[in-house]
Amino acid sequence: MDEVLDQALRAAVRKRLDYFDALVHQADDPSKSSLADTVIPQLTGAWRDLLAAHEPDERGLCRTCSARRLFGRARCTVWQAAHLRLIADERPVVRRRRFRCRPAAF
Ligand SMILES: [Zn+2]
Repeated sequence: MDEVLDQALRAAVRKRLDYFDALVHQADDPSKSSLADTVIPQLTGAWRDLLAAHEPDERGLCRTCSARRLFGRARCTVWQAAHLRLIADERPVVRRRRFRCRPAAF
């Protein structure tokens, strides 16, 4: 696929995701309910296709992500994102900063 087509594809997908986000925040409840029958199967189908493309091999390595790395074990970011969004708590991870106590300068 050439770069122009890639960009058009990415733009179309982002536009559709923006549309879904807008529906969540702006549509009334009856509209949301009627769209759920079509949107939820689209989203679950998209996730299943994506996860199938990142299915680990017999060594437990992602066939797509591991092929890009020559050294070390690449963790599949697609499965990590799926777990974060579908299973784990969706609140953003807030890393706590470690504050070191410095002696007061006098
Ligand atoms: Zn992967």
